[in-house]
Amino acid sequence: MQAKSLSVFDRSEILKRMSETVLDLLVIGGGITGAGIALDAAARGLTVGLVEKQDFAAGTSSRSTKLIHGGLRYLKQGEVGLVREVGRERAILFRNAPHIVIPEKMLLPLVQGGTYGRLATSAGLWLYDRLAGVEKDERRIMLTKKETAEREPLLRTDILKGGGLYYEYRTDDARLTIEVMKTAAAHGALCVNYAEATELVTENGKLTAVIVRDVMNGGASYRVRAKKVVNATGPWADHLRRLDGSLTGKRLHLTKGVHLVVAHERLPLRQSVYFDVPDGRMVFAIPRDRKTYIGTTDTDYDGSLEKPAVTRGDVEYLLNAVNSMFPSVRLRQKDVESSWAGLRPLIHEDGKSPSELSRKDEIFLSPSGLITIAGGKLTGYRKMAERVVDLVFRQLEQEEGRSFVPCGTDRIVLSGGRLPKRPAEYAADLKERYAYAGEEAERLVFRYGTAAESILQRGKEEIGKNGEKNIERVKQTLLLSELEYALREEMACAPEDFVIRRTGDLYFRRPQLVGMLPAVIDGFARAFGWDEAHAKTMLARLETVCEEAVRFET
Ligand code: FAD
Repeated sequence: MQAKSLSVFDRSEILKRMSETVLDLLVIGGGITGAGIALDAAARGLTVGLVEKQDFAAGTSSRSTKLIHGGLRYLKQGEVGLVREVGRERAILFRNAPHIVIPEKMLLPLVQGGTYGRLATSAGLWLYDRLAGVEKDERRIMLTKKETAEREPLLRTDILKGGGLYYEYRTDDARLTIEVMKTAAAHGALCVNYAEATELVTENGKLTAVIVRDVMNGGASYRVRAKKVVNATGPWADHLRRLDGSLTGKRLHLTKGVHLVVAHERLPLRQSVYFDVPDGRMVFAIPRDRKTYIGTTDTDYDGSLEKPAVTRGDVEYLLNAVNSMFPSVRLRQKDVESSWAGLRPLIHEDGKSPSELSRKDEIFLSPSGLITIAGGKLTGYRKMAERVVDLVFRQLEQEEGRSFVPCGTDRIVLSGGRLPKRPAEYAADLKERYAYAGEEAERLVFRYGTAAESILQRGKEEIGKNGEKNIERVKQTLLLSELEYALREEMACAPEDFVIRRTGDLYFRRPQLVGMLPAVIDGFARAFGWDEAHAKTMLARLETVCEEAVRFET
């Protein structure tokens, strides 16, 4: 096994290694919060392990609106500090992961009876830009009614009063999590997916070890000893606190958010729009990869944490929202090509509705020593990690005289992010050098950054061998090359890990993906030596996953 691996073929070895030492820190939960903590701690020199019971990012961190944003709405709630912090984080992330954090123009139409008035919006966006330290050429512009309608001809004009145009950043939440995880592994963190923390072991009332079950390989159990344990399990945080016997005081309040994807031709927006809906909430519509996605809802939730479902009510709500603001498009349920639902792990406040609850993060310290971090945003993950690792260091300083090392993740370029030039120019370069791949070269750059090159090179070698010219075969060869990368470098364990969290194809290329499913299964079958019967079962499972993206509960 390589010293710093995130290969699926090294999973058992990594778990074994984790259990043969006493770690400084064990992180439970492999979403963006856990990945960020693992990276920060490993970069400061701690020995770190991370266990994730599903796939990395399979919880909320692949189910968000996929924006790296300062949260304009938080300004309205008076959370100035939060806006400032996440605004600055946005700039840091753009610098350190330019391949997956992309500036995105956002139009905020001002309408009669809407959330924002002209003066308040102008002042709010001005303050938003200042708090977030936005560059001059990306600062907000206020628009007249005519200018707004020209910018977005699909908008209804009868209630339109004007608009504001400002910058947000778009990302792929699961890919961001995986790039952070790869960077953590490169700094020496031992990270494993499909490994569940099932038991917290205490000695004299202090947490000293965690029993971890390998969900993949026949359920083998490992005793992982650690000086400090962090619970970064998002919506599952209270389950771990219950396991720890420390679920007292503040608790989580879960709310569900749904997104729908339609073909861009069905909602051909010229830029992203953040618009008012009749019930007083606001919704995003964001063009991406020849699709437009719409979201989100915000409703109280107490169902399955692993599989939050999209209901017909959710679909109706979002389609009505779009049809009310863009009346000519007349979206219908049959236009929906894919969907996802995610759970916000918010902290409960008596008497507040889902949309009013704060998105701030909080740290809870239990008598056993379990450190729980809850709440927060994708955008603020680096700062959340800094706060947790500072606390870990302060404790280690007191307990064993360890010297404090300050956080340095603001200067760590994430895996794939060290581009030699601007992302678009780099993509154009690769497109020229790997002409056989056509548009795919660009897509790979905005997915893997510099790692796109090794995927393209491998594809080229395969094609060279077979002299393949047919475009469908080229696509299939590239898919297998990408899959190989996902197995060896990103610990994809199951076909759905690949189509949902490594590539995002289930959400943004579902119609094309359906034809590629046998090739995906074939790639996995070859890598893991599946027999025909097992490959058949896995294909059926993957087909179900694809169907579920457009199957809505009543
Ligand atoms: P998760 O991603 O849920 O990770 C927790 C992990 O812990 C899970 O993968 C789970 O499997 C694992 N786990 C649980 N129990 C165990 C166990 N016993 N052992 C091992 N592992 C375990 N933020 C933004 O900045 N921008 C946005 O645009 C945005 N939009 C959002 C839209 C919606 C609809 C939602 C729901 C959230 C949105 N957020 C956004 C918030 C953001 O997505 C979350 O704050 C963030 O993803 C939470 O990450 P996490 O790592 O804390 O939790």
